[in-house]
Amino acid sequence: MMKPIEIAQLSKTYRGKRGRKVEALRGLSLSVSEGEVFGFLGPNGAGKSTTIKTLVGQIKPSSGRALLFGDSVAAPKARRKVGYLPENPSFYDFLTAREYLDLAGRAFGMDAALIESESDRVLNALNLADASQRPIRGFSKGMVQRLGLAQTMLHNPDLYILDEPMSGLDPVGRALVKDLILELKSQGRTVFFSTHVIADVEAICDRVAIIAQGELRAENAVSDIIAEGIEGYHVRLSQTPPSEFNDFLEKGLPEKTGDLYVPRQQFNAFMRQVDQSGCTINLLEPKRKSLEDFFLRIIA
Ligand code: ADP
Repeated sequence: MMKPIEIAQLSKTYRGKRGRKVEALRGLSLSVSEGEVFGFLGPNGAGKSTTIKTLVGQIKPSSGRALLFGDSVAAPKARRKVGYLPENPSFYDFLTAREYLDLAGRAFGMDAALIESESDRVLNALNLADASQRPIRGFSKGMVQRLGLAQTMLHNPDLYILDEPMSGLDPVGRALVKDLILELKSQGRTVFFSTHVIADVEAICDRVAIIAQGELRAENAVSDIIAEGIEGYHVRLSQTPPSEFNDFLEKGLPEKTGDLYVPRQQFNAFMRQVDQSGCTINLLEPKRKSLEDFFLRIIA
């Protein structure tokens, strides 16, 4: 099976002002598998938008390869199965949301009946049905962003390439978009999105790539990062801990409660001791470094 996204040794050098060169991408390689939600993280200026614009054929790379479902991004065919949300989308604002989707649907070669039914579907999904007959001019930034997402879903693509999809949304809008991405995943579709909001990645991504200065710094399963980040466990026992537990506890035995903190390295031995002592654990909670710590360490 062809991967939805395959990038190999991708480089892009912009010619800036007065011939100054900007190396936005330096030999970036990564691939995204079918059905994955893939987060593309990096600080401002890291090269995220450049990568995304290359993937959707808006800019030509200086060297390297970018394929969508096995087709070069230079071939229009490659983009047919893709829904693309640009950063800060903007539309002809004299159109209503429905008129805009109508235009987009025709650009995808959909017939009128299909455009109508699919417009209903995506307007409902993005909570825009009530506003569908209003000119975009009067839309809030969050509504414009949601209309952009509605448009990416109109032709039911298999791959979604979203540049900062959560930006400009209020908490309700963010939750809506997160749920939508998870729903697309449950349908077996692939979502690749850039963000600098790490919490969004933690909540919905299977894998994450971190880039900085146009280079890949890390590519990991989010579950691995989270597991690696476990520093220890908060344990609540049903009774006062026996004194031999002291050996396992960084901070010593608690004064009154059965609440303990066990560092990760001690955890297996601690559990054996719990077993022998006949104590009961009422609560066990991992204490972990956040993805944020991981990110900051990687880009530092
Ligand atoms: P990100 O999306 O991660 O913030 P970009 O891909 O937008 O990063 O930018 C990467 C680098 O390329 C930055 O240093 C940016 O200033 C530069 N850059 C982006 N677009 C252009 C352009 N059209 N001309 C010159 N430099 C550019």
